[in-house]
Amino acid sequence: MATFAKHKQKPSSPGADLLQAPGKLHKSRLLGGAFCFLSACSGIPAGHGPVRLLHQMDANAWTQDADPDDTLVVMDYEVGTRVCGRTLTAAAAAALSANEDAVFGDACGGRVVLVRSSSTPRHQSDWAAIAAHEAFHSAVQYTVLRPRFDSVSFPGYPSLADLPLISSLSVDLATAIQAGNSEGVCTTIDNLMKSSDSVRDYFLYRSYWEWPAEHYMRHSAMKRSSYEEYLGRRASWGGGRGNPLYEVGVLALDQVEARLGRTEWQREYLSGEAPINMLAKANACAPPLPKSFQVDFSATDIFEAAGDG
Ligand SMILES: [Zn+2]
Repeated sequence: MATFAKHKQKPSSPGADLLQAPGKLHKSRLLGGAFCFLSACSGIPAGHGPVRLLHQMDANAWTQDADPDDTLVVMDYEVGTRVCGRTLTAAAAAALSANEDAVFGDACGGRVVLVRSSSTPRHQSDWAAIAAHEAFHSAVQYTVLRPRFDSVSFPGYPSLADLPLISSLSVDLATAIQAGNSEGVCTTIDNLMKSSDSVRDYFLYRSYWEWPAEHYMRHSAMKRSSYEEYLGRRASWGGGRGNPLYEVGVLALDQVEARLGRTEWQREYLSGEAPINMLAKANACAPPLPKSFQVDFSATDIFEAAGDG
């Protein structure tokens, strides 16, 4: 996976705790419901190491429970930097060094999300969007949601050979939704379910976890800005991780929402329905996934036990 490091500055020295050192905290605060990063508001340039900001859940965009209401999101995180005195486990550090954009844990007196430098947008104006997306994973999906058993296990990253099909299924779905072509939506879902195990399982996994997060981001932090312009910028960071499979989630859940209302689809999601099934039902086709029981879910701690750092 290629990374874009132009916005990066010198790496943190090993063991540094920039998040705790006095005078180096870039606290964020909420002003009139919008994020204001102290670093941006006061002219401190970006890229000077980790910057912490607080995402407050938007009760309009997510109508159901969230825990906690405020999530601390650390942008531009470099492996090796301690977080409020805590040290990442080797597994969490390895995950960030490999494919994971962010890891989730408890530190600094609450829930934290660490977004690695290579997945941090170059434009600070996009940080609130990423914070909203990641805070949703942390405060809703990893806490309140009891996920469907069939959607818990990550099936693994797709091979390069699978990417074009994943992409074209996503684009076909988006095109059909935008055209109000229910038959096209149903045909595409059918094609998805008939595709290889690796394509199908990856698509279904991402649609379950990422569609609601992306929809939440779109309707909270990005409610007054252009999603299309954001997508254009997103292609330029994180190795072009912006991909149609995430993007179609906003269209899909907007369509579901137009039919059911926001409160109802979000209730159904928490009750065990999968977004792909909701999309199918909104287009009068058969839900592709059978009913699945829900399981308790707790993420692995990303920090060494206190005192080990
Ligand atoms: Zn995500």
